[in-house]
Amino acid sequence: MTVEFISVGTEILLGNIVNTNAAFLAEKCAMLGLSCYHQSVVGDNEERLEDTLRRALSRSDVVILSGGLGPTKDDITKEVAAKVFGRKLYEDTHTKKQIQDYFCRTQNMQVTPNIWKQALVPEEAKVIDNHNGTAPGLILEENGKTAILLPGPPNEIIPMFEHDIAPYLNQLQPEGIYSKMVKICSIGESRVETMVEDLIVKQTNPTLAPYAKTGEVHLRVTAKASSEEEAERLMAPVMEELFRRFGDKIFTTEEEVTLEDVIIQMLLDKKMTVTTAESCTGGLVAGRLLNAAGASDVYKEGYVTYANEAKEHLLGVKHETLETYGAVSEQTAREMAEGAARMAHADAAISVTGIAGPGGGTPEKPVGLVYIGCYVKGNTRVEEFHFHGNRSKNRESSVAKALTLLREELLKVIDECRIM
Ligand code: ATP
Repeated sequence: MTVEFISVGTEILLGNIVNTNAAFLAEKCAMLGLSCYHQSVVGDNEERLEDTLRRALSRSDVVILSGGLGPTKDDITKEVAAKVFGRKLYEDTHTKKQIQDYFCRTQNMQVTPNIWKQALVPEEAKVIDNHNGTAPGLILEENGKTAILLPGPPNEIIPMFEHDIAPYLNQLQPEGIYSKMVKICSIGESRVETMVEDLIVKQTNPTLAPYAKTGEVHLRVTAKASSEEEAERLMAPVMEELFRRFGDKIFTTEEEVTLEDVIIQMLLDKKMTVTTAESCTGGLVAGRLLNAAGASDVYKEGYVTYANEAKEHLLGVKHETLETYGAVSEQTAREMAEGAARMAHADAAISVTGIAGPGGGTPEKPVGLVYIGCYVKGNTRVEEFHFHGNRSKNRESSVAKALTLLREELLKVIDECRIM
C-alpha cells in the first residue's frame, strides 16, 4: 500500500517553521510497512492544494494531509478535500460538543465565533476526536482511495496519529506490521553493522534495519504477519541470534525504553543511589537520568562544578591534583566521582570533565578530550575519550558515554543483566 504526505501552510513553504510533521509521518508510516514515494508542501492556496491533492490521489492509495484545519479563512484543507471528494460540509453536533468541552477544560482560551467552522465536516467522513485541540481529524474514502486530514500542531497530530490513525492504517493492510527495537550500547555503529551484515543480506521476513544514535545503535526487527503470535514466531530466531551476538550490550528491546530508564531501573532494583559531578556537560548527565520515571528514589543531589574552586570545595578534589594534573585529567575525574559519592552519600557517581570547545584546547589537551569517571560501591573506573564534534556534539557524546559507563559498572554489581 502506498502513502503520500501533503503538508499545508505557507509558513512551511517559506521555511518559517520546520516540517517536523512530515518527518514524523514518514517514519511512522515506514514502521507500519507502507511505501512512500512522494511528499509535497503547499501554501494556503486553494487552487494549488486541489491540484496537489488530485495528483496525490491519482498515484497513491492513502494521502495524509497535515495543517490548514484551523478556524481562520486561510485554513482551507477540509474545504478543498470535500470538493475533491464531491462531499458537502455539515455541522457535526458531536464535534461541536467536543469543541465546547475543550474550551471548558482550557478556560483561559478565548472563544471566537469562527471557531465553529471547525465543527463543519464533509458528508460520510470519519471524524477523529482531537483531545489536544479543536480541529478534528477527518478520513474520506472513495473508490479505494483515502485522504486523511490531520491538524498541524505537533502536540495534536502526534497523539492523534498514534492513537487513531496508526490502527486505522494497520487494518487497511492484509498483513500487519510488527516490530521490535533492539537497542545496543557499549559498541560502535560500524562494528554493529559488520556484526549483522550477514543477517541483513539474507533478510526477507523479518527485516533488520540499523539506526545510529549518539552513543547507541538501534536495530529494528520488522515482521509482516497476520497476527502478533505469528510475528513473534517469525522474529524469535532473529532475536535469539542478536542476543547471542551482542549479549548484555543489548539494553532493551522496547521502542519506548531509554538507556536512562534502564539505568534507573537497575538502581531501583538494587536499592542503590546515584549522583553526578559535571564540568563540561553542565548538568546534562543529571538531566538525562532525571528523564526517567522513578529517578527521584535514586537521585537525591548532584553537582555542576565548572570552576576549579567548585571542584575543590563541593567535591573535595585536592588542590594539588588540580595543580599537578589539571582539571581535565584522569586524576581529577576520579576524585570528582569519589568526592561526589562521598558528599551525596550515594552508592554510585558519574563525573565528567573535558574540553567541549571551541576554545580551551592545547596540543596536549585538545578540544574533545573528555575524562569520565564512574564510582560504584568502592570501585572507580575512569575512561579517556577523544570526540571530534562541535561544542554541543562533544557534550552530547560525553553524556552518552557517561550513561554507558554507568550501566557497564552497574552490570558488574548486578548478578543478572536486566533486559526490560
Ligand atoms: P490550528 O487548529 O492551530 O489552526 P491547523 O490544523 O490549522 O491548526 P496550521 O494552522 O496549518 O494547522 O498550523 C498550526 C501550527 O502547527 C503552525 O503554526 C505550526 O506551529 C504547526 N505546524 C503546522 N504544520 C506543521 C508541520 N508540517 N510541521 C511542524 N509543525 C507544523
